[in-house]
Amino acid sequence: MSSGPTENSFRDHLGIVSDEGKRKWIYPKAPGGRFHTGRILVSVMLLAVLFGIPFLRVHGHPFMLFDIVERKFIIFGLIFGPHDFFLLALAMISTIVFVFLFTVVFGRLFCGWLCPQTVFMEMVFRNIDYWIEGGPREQRMLNESSWTGRKIRKKLFKHTLYFALSFVVANTLLSWIVGTDKLFAIIVDPPSQHIAGLTAIVIFSVVFHWIFAWFREQACILVCPYGRLQGVLLDRNSIVIAYDYVRGEPRGKLRRGEERHHGDCIDCHQCLDVCPTGIDIRNGTQLECVNCTACIDACDTIMDSIGKPRGLIRYDSIEGIEQKVRSMVTPRSIGYSLVLLLLVSVLTYFIATRSDIDVTILRTPGMYFQEQPDGYISNLYDLKAVNKTFSPLPLSFKLTNADGAIRVLGDSLVLKSQETTSAKLFVLFKRESIRAMNTPLDVEVYSGSQRVGIVQSSFLGPVRKKEG
Ligand code: SF4
Ligand code: SF4
Repeated sequence: MSSGPTENSFRDHLGIVSDEGKRKWIYPKAPGGRFHTGRILVSVMLLAVLFGIPFLRVHGHPFMLFDIVERKFIIFGLIFGPHDFFLLALAMISTIVFVFLFTVVFGRLFCGWLCPQTVFMEMVFRNIDYWIEGGPREQRMLNESSWTGRKIRKKLFKHTLYFALSFVVANTLLSWIVGTDKLFAIIVDPPSQHIAGLTAIVIFSVVFHWIFAWFREQACILVCPYGRLQGVLLDRNSIVIAYDYVRGEPRGKLRRGEERHHGDCIDCHQCLDVCPTGIDIRNGTQLECVNCTACIDACDTIMDSIGKPRGLIRYDSIEGIEQKVRSMVTPRSIGYSLVLLLLVSVLTYFIATRSDIDVTILRTPGMYFQEQPDGYISNLYDLKAVNKTFSPLPLSFKLTNADGAIRVLGDSLVLKSQETTSAKLFVLFKRESIRAMNTPLDVEVYSGSQRVGIVQSSFLGPVRKKEG
C-alpha cells in the first residue's frame, strides 16, 4: 500500500522499541472526542454482554456455554456436542471467511471497537492509570522517580486494583466455560474439592494481570495473529484509519502572522501523543495501528481550533484519499461474499434440519442368527442413541416393512439428557415368515408418540428349504 510521500525510515523500527533495543513504555494522552464517546458506549455494551450472558438462562439452562472440557457447547440456547463436530467445523470456516471479508472491506474496525484486549486495555485499565497516576507526564515522572512512600502506595493501590479486576475477568471467563452454577460451587465449596477450577482461576488472573500491567500493546503488535493478517488482506479499497496526505502535505508548523504555503497538517504531534501503540499515522497504514480512533479525535480537535474542516485523519481508503472514489464492492469482496453466503446457507440448513435424537442400529458384529425355543428366529443389534436435548427421552421402535417384533434387552429404553446411550436389542421373526437369507429392515424410532427418525438395517435368516 502507498504510505504517502513521507520518508520510510519508520519501517526500520518499532514504535515501542528504543534505539538501544529496549522496551519503550508508551504514555499516551487520554483520548477524547466523538469517536471516543462512541467507543465508550460500545465498550459498556460489550462488557455488559461479557459479564451478563453467563447468568442468562433459557428454560433453566445457560443461553451460552463453551465447556471445552466436557465437549458441550450451548449456543443461543441450542445444545451441541461432539456428534455435531461437522457443524462446529462449518461454523469455524464460515467465521474465518467472514473475518476475511470484513477485514478486506473495513480493515481493523474489529480491533478498535470490539476486541476484548483493546476494550479492557484502553477503556478499563488505561483509565485506572490516569485516575491513580495522572496524565502521561505524571506517569512518566512517577516511573522514573526513586521508590518513595508515595510511589509505593500508588503502585500498590494500582496493582491491587489491576489484580482484583483480572480476578473478576478470570472468574467471568471460567463461567463461560463451566457455567455459573459450577463457578459458584468452586467459590463456596472447600478448595480441596475444586483444585482444577481454582488453579484455572489463579492462572487466568495472573496472566491477565501480567498482560494489562506489563505486556499491554505488545499483545496486538507482537502476538495477535489477526494483526499479522492485515498485510495480505488490506488493499487500496479497504477502509482504514488514514491520514489524508493529499490534503495534509506538505506539513508545517503554524506560525502567527506568517503566510502559509503548507497543507492542513500543522505538525502539532497531537495524533502521535494519543497513540497507544506509539506510531505516527501520517506514515501510512502500519501493522501496529489498532484502529482505536484516538488520532482522529485528536486531529479533529486541532482542525476545529484552526478553523479547518475535520477529517484530516479519518476512516477512508487509499483510493478514497487519492482518487476520491470509495467502493466496497470489489472482486475480492464479491468473491468472499459468495463463499460466505454458500457456507452460511449450508450451515443454516443443517441446523434447521438437525434432529433432537440421532440413532444408529447395527447388527452385532460376529453374530449370525439365533433360533429361539418358541419357533422364532432372532438377530442381535447394537443401538447407539444421542439425546441432544435437555430432557430425558423414552425411546420405542416399530418395524414398518416386515412382520416382526423388536425387543430391547433390559428395562425400557430412556435416553439421558445430552448423553450417548448404548443398548442391545433383538429383532424377531417367525421362522415361516422369513422369505430370504437377508431381509432389509426399516425401523421407525419413536420418542413418546413422536417419530424421531427411521433407521435402515438388515435381518439374517436361515435358507428356506425348497418346498415339494
Ligand atoms: S493531529 Fe493532525 S494536524 Fe496535528 S500532526 Fe497530526 S495530522 Fe497533523
Ligand atoms: S494510529 Fe491512530 S488509530 Fe492507530 S493505534 Fe494510533 S491512535 Fe489508534
